[in-house]
Amino acid sequence: TAKSSERNALRFYTPLMQANARQRLQLVSELRRALANDEFSLRYQPSMDLRSGHIEAVEALLRWQHPERGELSPGEFIPVAESLGLIRSIDEWVLRAACAQIREWDRAGMPKFRVAVNVSARWLAHPAFISGLGKAMRDFQIPSRRLALEITEGAMLRLGDETQRTMHVLHELGIEVAIDDFGTGYSSMAYLKLPSVSWLKIDRSFVTSLPHDANDVAIVEAILAMARSLGLRTIAEGIEHEAQHEFLRKAGCDEGQGYLYSYPLPAAALERLLNPRQTPARLSLVPPKQQS
Ligand code: C2E
Ligand code: MG
Ligand code: MG
Ligand code: MG
Repeated sequence: TAKSSERNALRFYTPLMQANARQRLQLVSELRRALANDEFSLRYQPSMDLRSGHIEAVEALLRWQHPERGELSPGEFIPVAESLGLIRSIDEWVLRAACAQIREWDRAGMPKFRVAVNVSARWLAHPAFISGLGKAMRDFQIPSRRLALEITEGAMLRLGDETQRTMHVLHELGIEVAIDDFGTGYSSMAYLKLPSVSWLKIDRSFVTSLPHDANDVAIVEAILAMARSLGLRTIAEGIEHEAQHEFLRKAGCDEGQGYLYSYPLPAAALERLLNPRQTPARLSLVPPKQQS
């Protein structure tokens, strides 16, 4: 009967669900421990002005040095942290760590590039987001032009009233927002009119097959044309080959980011790359050796 098969299904699934809940509980306590014990660190990946060849910005990317499982990339724990309600603490840790780093770099006389921080939709929509951001900027004395926020296009899909207000406050504060992974979110694009949105970050999936794939060429050219007429600046992500670089530069894309220029680097390695006393503030187009 239906009833007994239901019971069978329950019996079959219960141990799995328990295991799953146990694993989730364990991950919650591991993430809390990671925040308390400094197991998180940031890598910084430069983005290059495609016309001048100068580094204009770096993006802060999170890494988790897990005591048993080694270095974990954000794709392995950010989505889980979001579903466990821990993303706000993690993103706030990242923001404050990036601000502390900016202040250290300023004191050491490093060039004043922009530092972009990835922010999840959950935190952006939280009522305490603006006060947390403002506190970090005050605590570390960071002027707004030094910070940018990256928000995925998917996150903009869930653009509620709270987020809309936040986006306007960001504009008043002078903080620019980049729409990350642009082209993958199937969204209404209404958010492109928000005043704080200043950058479109073209998703790597459209860059990978440039300049050979005619569809990707058409999509990227359309994004660049639209950005130009809206007064938005553009960054292409995931540039690994000289031919992609050449295509994007000629097509008028503003900035590029990818392994061709640099892997995401620990702060000390970025300092060696950018220190004007050691190397010119210009990246070679020869891919560096894999670091970290
Ligand atoms: P994203 O913001 O789109 O970052 C770009 C990702 O592509 C990074 O992966 C970067 O290491 C990788 N990448 C850069 N250049 C290349 C390239 O030339 N080729 C290839 N194949 N990959 C390249 P990562 O560091 O694993 O981060 C993955 C995603 O996790 C990020 O995507 C971002 O959405 C999220 N994330 C990273 N840090 C944070 C954070 O602090 N907070 C939040 N909420 N999300 C974060
Ligand atoms: Mg990003
Ligand atoms: Mg991206
Ligand atoms: Mg991406």
